[in-house]
Amino acid sequence: MMNELEQFKEETAFRLFGRSRSLAIAGGQCVKCGFPHNLRSDFRDALSHKEYGISGLCQGCQDGIFGVSEEDEDGKKEALGITHKIFGEDEL
Ligand SMILES: [Zn+2]
Repeated sequence: MMNELEQFKEETAFRLFGRSRSLAIAGGQCVKCGFPHNLRSDFRDALSHKEYGISGLCQGCQDGIFGVSEEDEDGKKEALGITHKIFGEDEL
């Protein structure tokens, strides 16, 4: 049973990526490319791993969407804030 916020996130992910965010995360897959990416070691840092738990995006897709390098953590946090507004999460 999903509340309205969860329902909204599901619909947003489905519209953006064509698959269920909750099913992707439950199955340890990326919501965008479907590749299995659920281990901490699949991610560059703790922030990216946490991001997976929120948006369901693997490291490669996070980089592709946010287009940031390791030296640009501030810019990444800014970009993540926008995504989190889409998904209804607080900023990190
Ligand atoms: Zn991906």
